[in-house]
Amino acid sequence: MASKADYYEVLGVQKGASKDEIKKAYRKMAVKYHPDKNPGDTAAEEKFKEATEAYEVLSDETKRQKYDQFGHAAFGPGRGGAGAGGFGGVDLEEALRTFMGAFGGGGGGGSIFDNFFGGGGGGRGSRDANRGSDLRFDLEIDFEEAVFGSRRELSFNVQVECDACGGTGAEPGSSVETCPTCRGQGEVIMSQGFFQVRQTCPDCGGTGKRIKNPCKKCRGSGQMQGKRSITLRIPPGVETGSRLRVQGKGTGGTRGGPAGDLYVIIHVKAHPLFERHDLDLLITVPVPLSIASLGGEVTVPTLEGSSRIKIPAGTQSGRMLRLRNKGVKDPRGYGNGDLHIRVQVETPSKFGGKVKKLIEQLGAMLSDDLQPEEKKFQKNMDEFARRRDELSKLSESKG
Ligand SMILES: [Zn+2]
Ligand SMILES: [Zn+2]
Repeated sequence: MASKADYYEVLGVQKGASKDEIKKAYRKMAVKYHPDKNPGDTAAEEKFKEATEAYEVLSDETKRQKYDQFGHAAFGPGRGGAGAGGFGGVDLEEALRTFMGAFGGGGGGGSIFDNFFGGGGGGRGSRDANRGSDLRFDLEIDFEEAVFGSRRELSFNVQVECDACGGTGAEPGSSVETCPTCRGQGEVIMSQGFFQVRQTCPDCGGTGKRIKNPCKKCRGSGQMQGKRSITLRIPPGVETGSRLRVQGKGTGGTRGGPAGDLYVIIHVKAHPLFERHDLDLLITVPVPLSIASLGGEVTVPTLEGSSRIKIPAGTQSGRMLRLRNKGVKDPRGYGNGDLHIRVQVETPSKFGGKVKKLIEQLGAMLSDDLQPEEKKFQKNMDEFARRRDELSKLSESKG
């Protein structure tokens, strides 16, 4: 606890920073370290969580006041103050919810993820003790689905809302009354040392309601083991590491609370033709020796179909050619990437006696003059040997 970083330092703001400055600073940090921008980077994830934790405290007038007065001790050592989650460090799902809540889904600065995080998830509180937890679903898709978009039917086993009571936890037909402990508020004020803190009501778990006859099927929990089946729309342009959020399709809430969200993490399988680098595509095209020597045309695949491209005379293996705007379409509408073509000259390896004879004749006819690369190579080798001798003499003469 003692080594915990100062919340103001974490966000890089002055102690007297305004609410607006704090929000701006948090936005900058959160966008930079957002897990969607740094897939698999645990250091970035830690930064993201740390910034979110600092923001949760400094953006709340009451918590900020306590923090200014008592430092981190204000929220420890137990999980005081904030209800679910507390301040013993936030977990990633809570951090993501806070981030979405703070920026109403527009946090990515116009990135593709806006669409995924939007859908009215905006100001939803992250404090609902009865909210179901979020789920992660790893989905492998092929290259074509990632580029063109797709629909997938997903189904998985999860705790869902009890079908007998509809998730309320009350026996059907029985009455639900207001919780007398919190008078329906869902929160109670508790004294803790010097100050008073609001806590989730221990009797009703924050629902503000009391169930007289618990549902027999779920024993009042509102949950049961079940299955969710959803149709997932995969937008065109996703990549490995893209995260699609499906609201309300995570674990069912308890006692009438909302369900958590489902996060689908995309993994794109390798493709035999196309290699993807952001919006650009790379393909390797075999070119016959004769076309590489004399020049000509070859057909290459593109996302829309195919294109004929010119191979200049004297093309070597490894030469890069480019078709502009034939890459992946930017999901935000900023044009297309390019299609890069790597030439691979195919040396004949299977041939009959006649061809063998011709190649032998060809080899004999190609004088050094016709092979400039070989000539240059020989010259560099000679120069290297000369310098080596020169320098070894120099070191000998000095002893
Ligand atoms: Zn039930
Ligand atoms: Zn209560």
